[in-house]
Amino acid sequence: MKSIYSKMLLLMMISSSIYAFAWGLTGHRVIAEIAENHLSGKAKREIRKMMGQERLAYWANWPDFIKSDTTGVWKQTSVWHYVNIDPQTDFTSFEKNLKAQSGPSLYSQIKTLSSQIKDEKTSEKDRKIALIFLIHMMGDLSQPMHTGRSEDLGGNKINVTYFGDKTNLHSVWDGKLVDSQKYSYTEYAKLLDIKSKEEVKQIQSGTLENWLYDSHQIANKIYAQTPNDSKLSYDYQYKFNDTMERQLLYGGLRLAKVLNDLF
Ligand SMILES: [Zn+2]
Repeated sequence: MKSIYSKMLLLMMISSSIYAFAWGLTGHRVIAEIAENHLSGKAKREIRKMMGQERLAYWANWPDFIKSDTTGVWKQTSVWHYVNIDPQTDFTSFEKNLKAQSGPSLYSQIKTLSSQIKDEKTSEKDRKIALIFLIHMMGDLSQPMHTGRSEDLGGNKINVTYFGDKTNLHSVWDGKLVDSQKYSYTEYAKLLDIKSKEEVKQIQSGTLENWLYDSHQIANKIYAQTPNDSKLSYDYQYKFNDTMERQLLYGGLRLAKVLNDLF
């Protein structure tokens, strides 16, 4: 399986520049790397059995790369990366809206993939694919614009400029804010990661629905402060850098929690 995926990966990377990837390459890898640092011994051993020596960060972007696949095999996975929801101001109504949604989404698929990994009847190959998707999608969960409104496709239809370049709000949050810090993913993971057990435990508490609401509330704040035609530059970075970094850290720690619970 590895060689096919490696070739595919290479092909996808060549064509990747035209696509807006969730959290961009660096963001997803930072999240995977932080998660790797917080795995339990048991989870680490089980994941090594499935992945060999490859780190989580190696696979973290694969579910975005396969968006470029033209065979149609992965087509149904394109809606797994986000859950669009109208702005909700309290958790109860958010949860109600979330649960009322039908069809596959980030929300439904995180649960489906987790059960697939747990199910002993799942083949080795499908288990690995499910794990790769889960690593990626727990990252998407923490990118606020992946829990945004459907009317503007999570900010994709909100046009802005970023240091003079035409882009959109979704794309600013996917990659531009992270990349503007110019760290490698290992440097960034090291800088953001925390050791305090109490703090880690606090961030990892809550349910999947709580975590989605957490991202959704941030999305609402971003919408309010980034209207259409905004001209974004240093002041926007200054305003939102802490939020972006918080989301990378929280994404990593919550991914670790999900994996530790699974194995
Ligand atoms: Zn994604």
